[in-house]
Amino acid sequence: MLPGLICALKQRGFNYLYCHESQHYFEGELGIQDGSTHQILMRIHRSFTSPPEILLKSVPRGGSSPLPHITPTGGFCYIDDESIVFDCFDPIAYTYNCLNKAAEVLWRIINGELDDDLKEEFYSVWPGSAAFADFETPNFGCCHAIFFRKDVKCHVLAITDDTDRTLKKLKSFGILPDYLLMPGYRIPTSASPKPDLSAWPPKTLGELLTWQQKLDPICRKKILERVLQGALAGKPACAIVIESPRYTYGFAVYYPKTTSGEYAPKRLKRKIAPQLEIKPLVLDRLDYNYISERNIPGLKTFANKRIAIVGCGTIGGYLADVLMKSGAGTNKGSLTLIDHGWLAPGNIGRHRLGFPALYSNKAKALVDELLSQAPTLRIVAIPTSALEANIYSYDLVIDATGDEALGHWLRQQLPPNTASLSVWVEGEGVAVRALLWNSPGDACARCLFEANRQNRLRAVNEPIHQIRSGHGCEGLYVAYPATVSLHAAVLAGELALDWVNNKPSPKLRTRVLNSNFTLATPDCSPPAEPGCPSCNS
Ligand SMILES: [Zn+2]
Repeated sequence: MLPGLICALKQRGFNYLYCHESQHYFEGELGIQDGSTHQILMRIHRSFTSPPEILLKSVPRGGSSPLPHITPTGGFCYIDDESIVFDCFDPIAYTYNCLNKAAEVLWRIINGELDDDLKEEFYSVWPGSAAFADFETPNFGCCHAIFFRKDVKCHVLAITDDTDRTLKKLKSFGILPDYLLMPGYRIPTSASPKPDLSAWPPKTLGELLTWQQKLDPICRKKILERVLQGALAGKPACAIVIESPRYTYGFAVYYPKTTSGEYAPKRLKRKIAPQLEIKPLVLDRLDYNYISERNIPGLKTFANKRIAIVGCGTIGGYLADVLMKSGAGTNKGSLTLIDHGWLAPGNIGRHRLGFPALYSNKAKALVDELLSQAPTLRIVAIPTSALEANIYSYDLVIDATGDEALGHWLRQQLPPNTASLSVWVEGEGVAVRALLWNSPGDACARCLFEANRQNRLRAVNEPIHQIRSGHGCEGLYVAYPATVSLHAAVLAGELALDWVNNKPSPKLRTRVLNSNFTLATPDCSPPAEPGCPSCNS
C-alpha cells in the first residue's frame, strides 16, 4: 500500500523522506485559496489508522501573535481525531481528503475566521508550566501556593485552600516535595480568557494587567491589589489563580530582592509593580468536585450526603467503590462502611479486596483500600454488626448484606427522613434486584417479602431453587461469580445516583442475568403492603 501512496502523493508534489518509529515522513506544500503555499512536514502512521499529522515548517503571520489550532512550533490541528475514522484500506483517498481539509482550515485561520476558537483552546496558547489546583471550597480570596524550595524561581507545585490535604494527595502519587509556602489568591471573573493578539504572551505584571483590562477591568484591579498584598508577606513570590467559567488559569508573580537582601519591599509601590516578572501556570485540577462531576455533567454527585453501607461483602465492596467515584465522602458528606466480618481466603474470589486484607475486618480494610485510592475523602469504618452500630444519622442507608431478616429489621429502626436501599442477588446469580425506600408509602424489603410470598412482584417467572454450596452447618454460601456482584453493585449505584438527583423511580429494579429465566416484574415503584410491621404502613 505504501508504494501506491508514495506515488499518489508525488503527483501532489510530496517527497517521501523516511520511516522512523512506525511513521512515514513526507514533505511538500499546502496550497490555499488565496494562492499562497505553505511548506509542511506530514507524518503518517504505517497502520493507516489515524489522519496524517501535519507540521507547518513556518508559522503564518511570522508567529508574532497566537493563531487558533496552530502551536508556536507549527503543530497544526486541522481535524478532530475522534471525529473521523480513517479508512486503513483506502489511505490514498483519505490522505487526499485530509490534505484538502487542512488547506481549507489553514485558509480560514489565516483569514481570521477562527480567531474565536482561541477562547476554546486557551491553554494551547497560555505558555505556562504545569501546576496543580486543589480547591474544595468555593471561597475566593486568600489561599496557599506550594513552591518547590530548591527551585522557587522555576516551579510552583500546587495552589490550594488546604495545604495538608493537598500534600496528602501529592504524597499518594509519590511527590514528597521540599516546599515553601507562599501567598496565593483566587480571583473570579466572568470573562473567558482570549489571548491578546497584539502582545503575547505577557511577561511582566504590566503586560498581564493590560491584557486583563481588555477582558475584565474589575479582575485587573483585584490582581494588582492582591500582588501588593502578597508583598507584605515578605516572600519571594505569590501565585494568583483566575477562575473563569470555562478555564481556571494562573500565574506566579516574583518579587524583587531589596538592597538589604529581603524579598518584596514591604510597601511595594503601585508604580513599580508592573515591572514584576510573571510566569504563567497551566493548572491541573485535583479537587474531588472536578473529579466526580466531570463524568456526569449536569447531575448531582453524592457530595455532602451522609451514606452508610451495611455489609462489606462482595456487593458492598464494589458498591463502595462505585459510590466513591461519584463523590461519596466529599465536601461535608461521608461514607460509612459497617461490617463485623473478616476477610477469609474463600472470599477473595469475588471480593473487591485481596490477599493484603486477609483476616482483616472487611469494613476497616475496605476503608484503607479506598483511602489509598482517594486520600482525604471522609470514609469511615464501623467494624461491628449493624445491630450494634449507630445507624440513625444518615441520609441513605444501604443494606448490601443479602440478609433478608436484617433488611426487615433495618427499615423498622430507621427514622422516616433516612432513605434506605436494599440490594441483593436472587438464587445463584439468576437476577440482581435493588429496592429504594424514599418516603412513607414506599414498599420496603419486608413489603416485597410479603408480596413475593403471595406470588406478586417476583423477579422471574420460573421457580428459583436456592442451592447452597459448602459442607455441614458451617461455611454454607450461595455460589455465583464476581460478575454477578458487580451487576448488583452497579444496579444499586444507579438507583442511589437517581435518588440523589431526586428521580428515585422506578424504586424496584430487576436485572435478569441467567438466560434460562424470564423477567416477571418490570421496573416499578410498588406501594407499601398494608400493615407492614417494618415500614409501619
Ligand atoms: Zn414495609
